[in-house]
Formats: sequence, C-alpha cells, structure tokens
Amino acid sequence: MTRESGGPQRTCGACRTARDKKDLVRFVLAPDGSVLVDYRQRLPGRGVYTCFDLSCLTAALKKNVFRRGFRKECQPVALNELQRQLCQAVEQKILNLIGIARKSGQIVSGTQAVLDLLKSANTPALVLLSDDISSAIGDKIRRSAESKKILCAQLFDKELIGQLLGKEERSAIAMEKCSLASTVMYELQRLEQLQREI
Ligand SMILES: [Zn+2]
Repeated sequence: MTRESGGPQRTCGACRTARDKKDLVRFVLAPDGSVLVDYRQRLPGRGVYTCFDLSCLTAALKKNVFRRGFRKECQPVALNELQRQLCQAVEQKILNLIGIARKSGQIVSGTQAVLDLLKSANTPALVLLSDDISSAIGDKIRRSAESKKILCAQLFDKELIGQLLGKEERSAIAMEKCSLASTVMYELQRLEQLQREI
C-alpha cells in the first residue's frame, strides 16, 4: 500500500523501519500531555511516527515509544483511542478530497446519474455509496461497478454527502479518473484496513 517513494523518510518508532514520511502516521503531544494523531503531518512540535499498522501501534504503546520520542511524560492512551482518532482523520481527509473534487467538477452525484455514468464509455475511478442508501439501489449500483471492476465503497450518510456537495441528500456519487481519485482510493484502503483491525 505504498505510493511512489522519493520524499523525506522517517522511522517507525515501533518496528524501526524507515519509510516515506507520508506513508507513516505522525503523532504529536498536545499541551495537556495527550497523544494526538497528526494525520496531515502539519502540527508544530516534535513528531513521533509509526507505520499505519495495528501491530506497530500496539508495539508503540507497549514499548513506550511516545514517552521516549517526545522526551516527556504523556497521558496514558489506549489503542482503541488512537484507532478512533485515526479513523476520524482518514474520514475527514476523504471528505476534504471529495470537496476539492467537487469544486473541480470531477464528481457526479445522484443514483441515476451514477448508474448512467457506469453504463457509459467514460467510466469513473470510484463510486461511493452512503451508509443509508436503499439496499435495492445500492446493490444495483454495486453490481454495475463490480462488473466494470470499479471500486465501490460505502461510507458516510446521505445527508453528509449532500452537504459536502451543496445539495440535498445524495446517496451515491462517482469520481472521475484523476489524481485526486487515486488519493481517495488510497485513503479508502487505509480506512478499510483500520476497520478490519478494530
Ligand atoms: Zn512499524
């Protein structure tokens, strides 16, 4: 699940593997001593990195990687709290990416429009269904996407997706093939991995 390399590298505090910084998760220490996921890798201060991996997160807690990395006492943090923060951060990133794609006209929304697009020659990179789509329509879109080997994920509710697009409820959207779509697919894989591991 690594992307093209070449950027700055950091070392996972748990397994000591050096990887591209963007493939690792950055953590920072909040002023109150709590460990925070810095998914965008932009918060100031010393960062501690781990692989995006449950076993490295677990090992990081066991080996006191955070306290040693920050060189300060940290508030105790549970594995499921870090997982929860990570899930939230990945979901937020996906929402932001969809928002950007919408502004650049790379989103088609609405169940019929998505079905039409899947039947056309200009197939999208990915389809996103809301959690609360009616199961008959959801199945129809999913089957159509699968027959063309197009990623079809199910995430967020239709009200949230609609809000993001400045519309009423939307229970299906498709994203055209573009570099943003590749990033969304990467984040969706990460989310799926996290949810599998929780
Ligand atoms: Zn690691």
